Amino acid sequence: MNPLQTITALVPAVNTDFKCLGSECPDNCCTGWRVPIDQTTYQAYKSSMHPGLKPLFATKLVREAGGSPARYATIELKQEDHGCSFLEGGLCKIQSELGEEALSDTCGGYPRITVQHGDLLQQGLTLSCPDAANRVLLQEGMTEFVQAEVTTRLSQVMKIRDPNEAVAQITRSVRFFTLRILRQEHLAVWQRMTVLGFFCEEAAALQKNGDFASMSGLMDRYEDLIGNGGLDKILSGIGSYPSIQVKVFAGILFSKLLKPNSPHQKAVLDEFLADVFGTQTSMAPVAFQARVLDRYIAGIPNLERALADRPSFMANFLVNQMFNEAFPFNESSIFESYIRLVSRFGSLRMLLALQCSDPARIAAPERLATLTQVYARNFEHAPQFKDAINQALDQAGFRSMKFIAGIIRD
Ligand code: SF4
Repeated sequence: MNPLQTITALVPAVNTDFKCLGSECPDNCCTGWRVPIDQTTYQAYKSSMHPGLKPLFATKLVREAGGSPARYATIELKQEDHGCSFLEGGLCKIQSELGEEALSDTCGGYPRITVQHGDLLQQGLTLSCPDAANRVLLQEGMTEFVQAEVTTRLSQVMKIRDPNEAVAQITRSVRFFTLRILRQEHLAVWQRMTVLGFFCEEAAALQKNGDFASMSGLMDRYEDLIGNGGLDKILSGIGSYPSIQVKVFAGILFSKLLKPNSPHQKAVLDEFLADVFGTQTSMAPVAFQARVLDRYIAGIPNLERALADRPSFMANFLVNQMFNEAFPFNESSIFESYIRLVSRFGSLRMLLALQCSDPARIAAPERLATLTQVYARNFEHAPQFKDAINQALDQAGFRSMKFIAGIIRD
């Protein structure tokens, strides 16, 4: 097994006391996912002489055809409930019999996401874990970061590489500057996303020319715009186009969401679908789009009301995403990273607004956090999601901020 390491890393303050809920977890990460097993762990399991585990190791580990060292095999799921074959009474038999050190890299690391960016080590939590979703979305303080001791497997650390230390210093500054834009509480979240988009579009042009030295000037200019109330020019005149938002996000959102992979996800989504579509279980595509559009337009103002006591909910979601993914250096360019973020923002907002579409039954923030956790289970670990959104944006001819701004506005 690859050893667990204790490191000092930058973490969001709300995460410092994270503790797995274990058997109390409503959507155990060991259900519904075919967990990858790395080669080192696979070989250790195969040579284990533990009397209770040896028969399971012999029959429940499935080699991946052409698998990499990180995804060398997977664990078979139980037919009856799609739970991991090593799960007993909500507890992992490998962990209880052999200890946490014996878990595979994936099981030992989840739900933590560790990134090394030059000499900066950081760790966040994915919202596909119910406890992580609640602590990140429902608390204030996601915007504060502290140094803390955390554990990780070195093989699980995502590394951001820069050509040299001078560039690394600039890219780290850009990362924290983009987080600062998301913290501008005097702006609505769609306004923060729009300003971020214009910044990313300009930064991407500099990046394309290898002109990292000019990024400091660009950040200063946006800092001035934010500080001096000079954003009106950027934000005025941006229209709202819910029908285009539905065209870009709804099909993809529903085609993947309708495939829940645990009893918890199914229960959450069944309730959501009943709220949005009533008893209608199938609809022609045109009627479906019309229904979603109608419910979405009704839901947007209600969503704001639903989150009146949790004004940081959406910004916390975005900050968590940006922090974990080393935004905006997680794609081939800064603007591509931004489009990835837009895809998450637009689709989640649509989901939550639909959940709030009936003014008589506006969802509680806790319900919206649960829906976000289910969303994350389906989309955060699905790279094809961003590709599908990209395709939809391409089809609609949206590849610049001039057009994208229109699908960001509430
Ligand atoms: S999803 Fe989170 S709380 Fe639930 S079992 Fe996994 S790590 Fe623990």
